[in-house]
Amino acid sequence: MEEQINSFPQVLTLAGTDSGGGAGIMADLKTMQSRRVFGTAVVVAVTAQNTIGVQRSMMMPTEMIDEQCASLAADFEIKACKTGMLGDAVRVHCVAENLRKYDFGPLIVDPVMIAKGGAQLLADDAIQTVKDELLPLATLVTPNLVEAERFVGRKLQTKAEVQAAAHELQQLGVQNVMIKGGHLDLATNEAADYVLFADHTDLWLSSPRIKTKRTHGTGDTLSSCMAAELAKGATLKEAVYTAKAYIQAAIANTIQVGHGHGPLNHWA
Ligand code: PLP
Repeated sequence: MEEQINSFPQVLTLAGTDSGGGAGIMADLKTMQSRRVFGTAVVVAVTAQNTIGVQRSMMMPTEMIDEQCASLAADFEIKACKTGMLGDAVRVHCVAENLRKYDFGPLIVDPVMIAKGGAQLLADDAIQTVKDELLPLATLVTPNLVEAERFVGRKLQTKAEVQAAAHELQQLGVQNVMIKGGHLDLATNEAADYVLFADHTDLWLSSPRIKTKRTHGTGDTLSSCMAAELAKGATLKEAVYTAKAYIQAAIANTIQVGHGHGPLNHWA
């Protein structure tokens, strides 16, 4: 019998691992698998982690990050990529250098700073390096509200303040900006994300807020879902809507794993 050859777009995550399987590279690869693209991964950091928290993290030597990128560039046709936990300024610089050196397609920067459990996943002094080196390379940056506040250096409490922050981030060279949970209307209990596109059009994505602590890895999942959709040829706007729906379904149909902030359901 002849072999049947199927082809899938190849997508790359440059991020940290989560031994607990719910966030980081593990969430990225599960999301990519579920979106029917072929996931590849450059390990930038390793965490000892479960649903209760991050017990320890360790950075990869930069030579090993370089080697992993070189291996992929020599053999794969990466159609889109994303960054997640990068740890410190040295690793941010190293990843940016590799992204300048190789064409891995459109880049989504998920500027992971602090885990929901409180662990610091990016050193404070690396935030400036992300702004200087990574954002100018990015198609889209996806900070949550706290990360957006760290980028602009002030509290964001109203819709107008969130929109102004997104414009400010765009001026750093990133084409499109998505600020997650950018406005929580306590009256209607709606969570909303603000998206500002390269052509200066924008939108608020609003969804009912689901009461759950099982949201470990939502940021990673959102950004890898969008990278997967871009790799398949979707427009950014289409990718945003698909990823939002994917996250909503994953949060609404939770699974029982671990004793803390449980992981998402990638079969939903
Ligand atoms: N661990 C790693 C390696 C991550 O990349 C992330 C991503 O944000 C987290 C933990 C945090 O996950 P969460 O804050 O969704 O629990």
